[in-house]
Amino acid sequence: MDWNMSNDRPGPRTVNCPTCAAIVEWSTAQAWRPFCSERCRLIDLGDWLDESHRIPAVESTPSGDETGTH
Ligand SMILES: [Zn+2]
Repeated sequence: MDWNMSNDRPGPRTVNCPTCAAIVEWSTAQAWRPFCSERCRLIDLGDWLDESHRIPAVESTPSGDETGTH
């Protein structure tokens, strides 16, 4: 009786790298999971940072309300 072997897992769990869609084995051996490599992780992180840097410049345009209120 090998009950331990009768788990219904079809095989190693895999995920797709968010950056390049490569198949990445979800194991402790994959330090960059869910990414396939450090490179892909940095690319994704870079994209994210780049997005956050693209904050639209919301400048409060003085409409002359403060003039003369002193
Ligand atoms: Zn990748």
